[in-house]
Amino acid sequence: MNILVVGRGGREHTICWKLGQSERVKRIYCAPGNAGIAAHAECVNIAETDFAALVEFAKRNSVDLAVIGPEDPLFAGAADAFEEAGIRVFGPRANAAVIEGSKAFTKDLLKKYNIPTAAYETFDSYEAALAYVRAQGAPIVIKADGLAAGKGVTVAATLEEAEEALRVIMLDKAFGAAGDKVVVEEFLEGEEMSILSFVDGNVVRPMPAAQDHKQIFDNDQGPNTGGMGTYSPVRHIPESVYEEAIRTIVQPTADAMMAEGRPFRGVLFAGLMISKDGPKTIEFNCRFGDPETQVVLSRLESDLAELFLATVEGRLEEIEPKWSEQTAVCVVLAAGGYPGPYNKGDVIEGLDQVTESVVFHAGTALDAEGRIVTSGGRLLGVTALGADVDEARRKAYADVERIRYAGRQYRTDIGKKALK
Ligand code: AMP
Repeated sequence: MNILVVGRGGREHTICWKLGQSERVKRIYCAPGNAGIAAHAECVNIAETDFAALVEFAKRNSVDLAVIGPEDPLFAGAADAFEEAGIRVFGPRANAAVIEGSKAFTKDLLKKYNIPTAAYETFDSYEAALAYVRAQGAPIVIKADGLAAGKGVTVAATLEEAEEALRVIMLDKAFGAAGDKVVVEEFLEGEEMSILSFVDGNVVRPMPAAQDHKQIFDNDQGPNTGGMGTYSPVRHIPESVYEEAIRTIVQPTADAMMAEGRPFRGVLFAGLMISKDGPKTIEFNCRFGDPETQVVLSRLESDLAELFLATVEGRLEEIEPKWSEQTAVCVVLAAGGYPGPYNKGDVIEGLDQVTESVVFHAGTALDAEGRIVTSGGRLLGVTALGADVDEARRKAYADVERIRYAGRQYRTDIGKKALK
């Protein structure tokens, strides 16, 4: 089988690496890929949203399955384009990807089907939103409806912060049309957890839970990022809570999408808050998370290509994926200054000295002399397996120390929460 993976991040590197272990897979292409992906796949210089060129490439190279990594091409109809061309594709159609693309759509869906989430109201008028926020008081959560690159959410501790967020989103239009509507949400207290699931429309096959570290600095300080590290499993959250989340949130959401005529096929990523009243939905993503994928797929013992095919063909019922008992920890190495402005083109050294982890590349490139250089904010995900979180952390951080470049930045506390 020949597979075309679309994307260029750590998530796609992990997918290509795992597909490379499958006996069913003959050739792996990745568009556009990155410097690390080139070790597992043939990188093809086509942009993620150039569907005509992607489909044309897939036809010319006898691609049996396309796998869409990032959300942007999914929102824009990547899966639809491949389907229309008669090529099997892993990832939801645009009408199902909306579960990530519009927070208002998802909140309304959850309300309609009684799926646990924070109480909320949606507004398209600034004045009405402001009046509601003042009536509710702080703490309160303000979210731009559309896509704002993860920056459209303000967890406001005070009324002033909440009002400022409304102004920035609705009056200053800091996120453009994404701020035409806002969702104002009840503040949920608790611990966060992510559950990613393969969903074939009807059947849900959940992956083990993972926890992300969103903020740039240790102890969850500083601005939010795309994610600075992850670990899996999350042993201090009881299995019964995980099962409750599948039963009350993930499966009912797959069923709701089906009932709405928007069957979800692909990876449904549930961002959950474990509140004192049980798990509640914070958000859904319509694809693998980055860097959740690095830890979760590191623990997958089954054939990923087979899981992708079973999802696409509606045969997930036949498959029970196997997961390693080991703990995986992924530490993200970022460019100095990230998530603000950062340098590009700095040479990364020491990758050949890594002994205890797998290093998944994100924002890396090859320079004219064939050296691996920095070319993004998040650069590498150093991912190790261990008997427990302690061992996985020790291995990952030992390798982190072996990798050198100007301005190296990473958190030193990934997985520490699980040590308690
Ligand atoms: P979202 O983009 O909706 O996932 O929100 C980004 C982050 O904001 C989440 O990962 C949470 O840490 C936080 N957050 C979102 N909604 C709430 C809520 N209702 N209560 C508390 N924190 C929230």
